[in-house]
Amino acid sequence: MSSSTKVDLDGNPIKAMTICMIGAGGFIGSHLCEKLLSTTSHTILAVDVYNDKIKHLLEPESLPWNGRIQFHRINIKHDSRLEGLIKMADLTINLAAICTPADYNTRPLDTIYSNFIDALPVVKYCSENNKRLIHFSTCEIYGKTIGSFLPKDHPLRQDPEFFILKEDVSPCIFGPIEKQRWSYACAKQLIERLIYAEGAENGLEFTIVRPFNWIGPRMDFIPGVDGPSEGVPRVLACFSNNLLRGEPLKLVDGGESQRTFIYIKDAIEAVMLMIENPARANGQIFNVGNPNNEVTVKQLAEMMTEVYSKVSGEPSLESPTIDVSSKEFYGEGYDDSDKRIPDMTIINKQLGWNPKTSLWDLLESTLTYQHTTYAEAVKQAIAKPTSS
Ligand code: NAD
Ligand code: UDP
Repeated sequence: MSSSTKVDLDGNPIKAMTICMIGAGGFIGSHLCEKLLSTTSHTILAVDVYNDKIKHLLEPESLPWNGRIQFHRINIKHDSRLEGLIKMADLTINLAAICTPADYNTRPLDTIYSNFIDALPVVKYCSENNKRLIHFSTCEIYGKTIGSFLPKDHPLRQDPEFFILKEDVSPCIFGPIEKQRWSYACAKQLIERLIYAEGAENGLEFTIVRPFNWIGPRMDFIPGVDGPSEGVPRVLACFSNNLLRGEPLKLVDGGESQRTFIYIKDAIEAVMLMIENPARANGQIFNVGNPNNEVTVKQLAEMMTEVYSKVSGEPSLESPTIDVSSKEFYGEGYDDSDKRIPDMTIINKQLGWNPKTSLWDLLESTLTYQHTTYAEAVKQAIAKPTSS
């Protein structure tokens, strides 16, 4: 069957569309572009300041999707071309953001501007031009769980009502203003509320996505290899970097926080369903995560150590982890989400979607990628004498 005869979940044929994807050069954008180009006939107007992660999709003239992706090097903070691109598209997907926790407390202004102010014109142009918008928010919008305020051994901590995160029920619980960690969540919350209000008052067709720790190849950077040597990426890249360098993995405040991790390829399937089923996705806020893959950060470190040893053939360290305080690791104003388990009822009902890949399997394919891509470069970086 050719891609043009594909049907949506209600049996209607899916028409080829033009998608303006802002932040297309990032981790999620690169996987979404790959999927759209290889399995659909949609066209992408890819907007970003960088394109390293989608170079393989842009360069060769001979690729089968030649002509279906155009890269526009645009900083959406200040570029009058943005509205024109949104007008040309049927759908806009906004992924652009500062979204690494190390920035939230150290660059709170940039974080707030990026996640709220810079997203405003995108919402406005979509609303004014009657264009559909899929906006990427975050699971961090929920903040801390209700249960985290109970004493450690309180029985209600075991009650799902006190920790499962539901789009239409759970409150958003952030720490005090001096805990600047929450600048990101607060900015994302306000843009969600603004989009929701545009829907309610002006009829904007929107879908809001709340990703729960999507991980996989091409996430962030390896410090000193394809990113700043002092940079602090998200946990997958931090731990990968430690493993590649043969150094202990750093557990912030003992690594007691809990996360659910989902394989990027599973999550992309959910986004594809949203793109191609507007009638089921419009007006919705969707959690996208894998509730079956919950671990503490310490357990993640232990599993990554074991998997990396398997895929690289290198023995693991005798003491594979080391504790570090959050103040030392992230600086003043850091705080943490204690636990993040997504409720899947809404996405399951609307789109029939479920995640598939286990944590072990997703780490195996991701760490194989990290080893193949970076091991040699890291070796060379370590061997290089440091300049004085
Ligand atoms: P990423 O940093 O890899 O991608 C973001 C991209 O946006 C980058 O390529 C960046 O260059 C681009 N960008 C930022 N500001 C821009 C600007 N002013 N103009 C043009 N381009 C700009 O991050 P990601 O993991 O792909 O995340 C994408 C979205 O999903 C973000 O909105 C993020 O908040 C959200 N999110 C992701 C996760 C996750 O698990 N990966 C979790 C929660 C939320
Ligand atoms: N973390 C850690 N060591 C690291 C990097 C992160 O212990 O080298 C912890 C961090 O404090 C948080 C969790 O790992 O509890 C996940 O961090 P990440 O940066 O991936 O983003 P978050 O899930 O907090 O948005």
